[in-house]
Amino acid sequence: MSHQSNEGHPAKMCHVCQGTRIYYLFSACGHRVVRCDDCGLVFLNPQPSDDALARIYDANYFLGSDNKAGRNTVGKIKQATARLYLSEIRRYHGSAAGRLLEVGCGEGDFLVSAEADGWRVTGVEYSPAACKTAKQRLQNGKVLCGELQLAGMAAEQFDLCVVSDVIEHVRSPLGFLREIHHVLKPGGTLFIATPSIDSWSARIMRQKWMEFKTEHLIYFDRQTLQTALFKSDFHNVIVQPGWKILNFDYVKKHFERYPVPVITSTLKFAARILPRATQLRHRRIVASGIMAFAQKAEPHPQPVLSVIVPVYNEAKTFGILMDALLRKELTGLRMEIIVVESNSTDGTREAALKYKDHPKVKLILEEQPRGKGHAVRTGLKTATGDFVLIQDADLEYDLEDYDALLEHLVTGRSAFVLGSRHGGRKMMKMRQFTGQRGLSLIFNSGHWFFTTLVNLLFSQRLRDPFTMFKVFRRDCLAGLEFECNRFDFDFELLIKLILKGYCPVELPVNYRSRSFKEGKKVRMFRDPLSWLRALVRLRWMKIDPMDIIGRMHETGKESCSVKTASPKP
Ligand SMILES: [Zn+2]
Repeated sequence: MSHQSNEGHPAKMCHVCQGTRIYYLFSACGHRVVRCDDCGLVFLNPQPSDDALARIYDANYFLGSDNKAGRNTVGKIKQATARLYLSEIRRYHGSAAGRLLEVGCGEGDFLVSAEADGWRVTGVEYSPAACKTAKQRLQNGKVLCGELQLAGMAAEQFDLCVVSDVIEHVRSPLGFLREIHHVLKPGGTLFIATPSIDSWSARIMRQKWMEFKTEHLIYFDRQTLQTALFKSDFHNVIVQPGWKILNFDYVKKHFERYPVPVITSTLKFAARILPRATQLRHRRIVASGIMAFAQKAEPHPQPVLSVIVPVYNEAKTFGILMDALLRKELTGLRMEIIVVESNSTDGTREAALKYKDHPKVKLILEEQPRGKGHAVRTGLKTATGDFVLIQDADLEYDLEDYDALLEHLVTGRSAFVLGSRHGGRKMMKMRQFTGQRGLSLIFNSGHWFFTTLVNLLFSQRLRDPFTMFKVFRRDCLAGLEFECNRFDFDFELLIKLILKGYCPVELPVNYRSRSFKEGKKVRMFRDPLSWLRALVRLRWMKIDPMDIIGRMHETGKESCSVKTASPKP
């Protein structure tokens, strides 16, 4: 469809992560289906030739386009789906309509609905026949006929770009997404609908999945689509199960063209014995795909990591930590260190003041200690980095673990990483207080109890949700409000990110626990009670990421700001 063909030559690298560990899965419709072992992308390798694809995209490629009655029915279905997409886009993008580009607009069903909604529309379409139909149906909209290449288009002219059932046809998805990035205005919205290899239908039907077709070159899932978007400089990415409006007749026609054993024959049989089924109303169903919403970001020439160091009465270790942090080199990343000092009484404030003018350090002085959570929230408000890492001022964690944790964020493979102290290199290395075995046991049991509770309440399978090492893209925080002041903030941060749809990845880290004698600050009775309260409260909280980002667009606030509720006294 667009971009160079690698006909006959299998790709040596993954189209999304450039990983080289590519494994053959099986053959479908005469093509080798492979999977990248690094990011999980599934794709045809080698890709079919341009000639083979051109034969598929002939005048009758669009279902129902062979006769007028068929076109009417299919048109109604597609317009109903278009209205559904437009209402979801409005939730994410805000209600203001502007200039809209649809890449792969087919016969213009989506554009017709968008035009009626007030958008000034432009379509790009490969099939000349579909192009002609689309042009006739639009009032003022433009349709450009030809390859789905946007390289020749002027930069920054569209507020919204729609790519519905197209990205799976593209030979090089990252190149395609970068072209879209180029034509979108700063902060513009991208909407993608594509089949998903982790949908229920793909899981059930496996090799027989109806989306395995010669013309579908790439098979995304939530994770790989998110990675592709991060790598092409999009942020505020939300990936959701895809909805479509379909009716019985359309589904039957689809399975007649792309036969799947049992399903095709069952549908034909049902149509024969229940002829009225074909007239059933259009229904909104979870289809075999996903929908993604993303916003164009302006990339930093060199990505920045914000390290937030909340500190209170840590005179013994603070200086050692700061020197280690300032010595720490991160490949490809610049570091900003945000120290939040909470008016310590043991000389830590004086130690912190020494870094006041250091170019890498931002020092924030709190008038009184209001808890670690409060200090971190204060630090988050000042952070400007692409990524955020929270670093306690004690020496329980190892700075050498930064590189592995950050690698997942920098390469776009995840948005949220936890450094797990149960790393598997040494079991039960969690908490061992010298000479206090009973206390170690109480702490480890408490850890087990709260971990199980979090996993049950929030459908996770985490081993160490309470690690200090929480590393995430700063845009994950966009639109969230935080209010916890003490160690319950750890829960609040973790769970609000999970509720917003980010799935944490756990990586093993080193850990040396310190005892209360060495200055551990958790209070054995009051803190666990506040954690329970926080968990119960968060369990019933609804966080709708679409709504959060939509509100942000409406109010015009900077997309990465952290709202912080007024602190409790
Ligand atoms: Zn890959």
